[in-house]
Amino acid sequence: MARCTTSVCKLCRRENMKLFLKGDRCFGDKCAFERRAYPPGQHGQRRTKLSDFGLQLREKQKVKHIYGMLERQFRMYFDKANRSKGATGHNLLQRLERRLDNAVYRMGFGDSRKEARQLVLHGHFLVNGKVVNIPNTVLKANDVVSVRPKSQQATPILRALENVKKREVPDWLELNAAEFKGRVKYLPERGQITLPIEENLVVELYSR
Ligand code: SF4
Repeated sequence: MARCTTSVCKLCRRENMKLFLKGDRCFGDKCAFERRAYPPGQHGQRRTKLSDFGLQLREKQKVKHIYGMLERQFRMYFDKANRSKGATGHNLLQRLERRLDNAVYRMGFGDSRKEARQLVLHGHFLVNGKVVNIPNTVLKANDVVSVRPKSQQATPILRALENVKKREVPDWLELNAAEFKGRVKYLPERGQITLPIEENLVVELYSR
């Protein structure tokens, strides 16, 4: 599977915000953005004014990096969102949030989306009682995600369940850590996706 090989901390510095791509490290003083909050590279500290296109491009890149996607897959998500009823930007974010790897991360079974994706790929999770190892599976309301009994003592999962106390499980999801289970209570409204994303800029970019 193709993947982005850039240092993830550089992505945060490029987007001028913490994208929380490295799990627990993002909450400590080793965070690269806390130390150098300016874009990477020789001219990173220069002030530059972005054009409208530049702003739209940066916003799209930011969303892609947060959800760990490459351009082609992201574009497919956008096209599906565009064909669905309702606001395209909201449809896009909602679909991204409903991915199994994102839900595993949000529920607290993985320290980052990247780690959650790896855990899903390795078959550590059940969805409604069946093993699902496809990270881009789209969850529905009332779907139950649980850790397979034989994976319940896996170190990354136990560590992530400890670390999730530092961030909140969103309202639309429910975590039962004692039973290694989580549930999609309902599909997220825009207000419940609290990431600082201006999805209208992504829509404008792809509508050019
Ligand atoms: Fe971004 Fe986390 Fe790296 Fe900080 S530690 S720069 S939040 S990926």
